[in-house]
Amino acid sequence: MRYVSTRDNSKEYSFEDVFIKGLADDGGLYVPTSLKKFSPEELSKLKKLNYNDISTEIINQFSSDFISKGDLSSLIKKSYSTFREKEVVKISNVGDLKLLELFHGPTLAFKDIAMQFIGNLYEYYLTKNNKKINIVVATSGDTGAAAIDAIKGKSNLNIFVLHPNNRISPVQRKLMTTVEDDNVFNIAIDGNFDDCQNIVKQMFSDLDFSKSINMSGVNSINWARIIAQAVYYFYAYFKLNVDKPISFSVPTGNFGDVFAGYLSKQMGLPIDKLIVATNENDILHRAISNGDYVSRKVKETLSPSMDIQLASNFERLIYYVNSSNSEITSDIMKKIKQNEFQIDKSNLDIIQKDFVSESCDEDETLGIIKENFEKNGIILDPHTAVGVGVAHKLSFNDCVVLSTAHPCKFPSATDNAINKHEELPKELQYVHGKEENFQLLKNDTDEVKNFVKSKL
Ligand SMILES: *Cc1c(COP(=O)(O)O)cnc(C)c1O
Repeated sequence: MRYVSTRDNSKEYSFEDVFIKGLADDGGLYVPTSLKKFSPEELSKLKKLNYNDISTEIINQFSSDFISKGDLSSLIKKSYSTFREKEVVKISNVGDLKLLELFHGPTLAFKDIAMQFIGNLYEYYLTKNNKKINIVVATSGDTGAAAIDAIKGKSNLNIFVLHPNNRISPVQRKLMTTVEDDNVFNIAIDGNFDDCQNIVKQMFSDLDFSKSINMSGVNSINWARIIAQAVYYFYAYFKLNVDKPISFSVPTGNFGDVFAGYLSKQMGLPIDKLIVATNENDILHRAISNGDYVSRKVKETLSPSMDIQLASNFERLIYYVNSSNSEITSDIMKKIKQNEFQIDKSNLDIIQKDFVSESCDEDETLGIIKENFEKNGIILDPHTAVGVGVAHKLSFNDCVVLSTAHPCKFPSATDNAINKHEELPKELQYVHGKEENFQLLKNDTDEVKNFVKSKL
């Protein structure tokens, strides 16, 4: 399979380029030039497989010129061997809705599912190439922990993680900053998540710098992450054993997870609507409901992993709804940069065929946590609560809500709602007593570059 950049589709790339670089040199995101579309017969064959084998079948559609199917299959098995659920994810009920629990990996959020996979993909790549790679990644809280767990201790790889200082939960921070391996570097930026993300983007676009350190990215724009996330949409659909299209409510920040749902739909999975659920940082809700893609100041909320204004992966959708036209996409991205983009009616009509959206404010989120605890005896993490709340608000009464984090990661939110919180699983409780290690830096790209160079 060949790939192009959303901003210049005249050049083609291999899966290796796409995976190792993450972001194209022109600042665009990689997208495949064609997609496998599974027929109903092929879907019924996939349905009989377990999670790891479904993963292999789906990911192999994208990566076969990089890794053989047999190697891929072992790599996937290894990636999910540490999960607390044998089938990686689990489906449970919350009232009439289904919850797709994605948080049974080592750092308790859905990001483990893609990250454990790509950690092993790097290792596979480096055993064949005599190289050293430096991963630099910005996190709104969960990506960093998942990436660190996936990369720690691996040879020829360093990882630098930028998090917004004091804007992530203490549990999220400790899962990153208590890791002792000497290839792990935590940086707290005096700014918000968008600032962190901008610094990383600027480091990438400084090609002298990024090439000189063999910089690689594992943010949610990395195509290898998206394809690993598409798998659980397939798995959930098969497990529900229905013969009609189903809808998914997806707590959304950077538009990566919900884009994986869109990809699944393009690949033939019977999905009705993808419900984009946002917190008060509702740019995606404004965009999808009435075309308003103007970013406002980021608000800190109970669901920090969704405290994002500019959703990087939205660029992929813009590219597709504009019939894979990279010139139009580049123009739109310029407008977005100047913060003056409105989605036109014809694009909006296309988007609304697949997507609906809604947002939940802080009180609504707390209300959902309280109501579900009282009615169903379930503690929802605040991100999942937004997904549940939005499904209710839009009257999607039998959809699947992606449950993106374990509630124990956000104890202050649940304390606030119900005076109760879940404890960390036993094997992770050690983080509470352990010394934390991170470097506080200004919101300044040069300062971060210098720090990175000083560690190599
Ligand atoms: C990252 C994250 C999200 C948002 O996912 P995107 O792919 O950025 O849209 C939602 N919930 C949790 C718990 C997360 O960690």
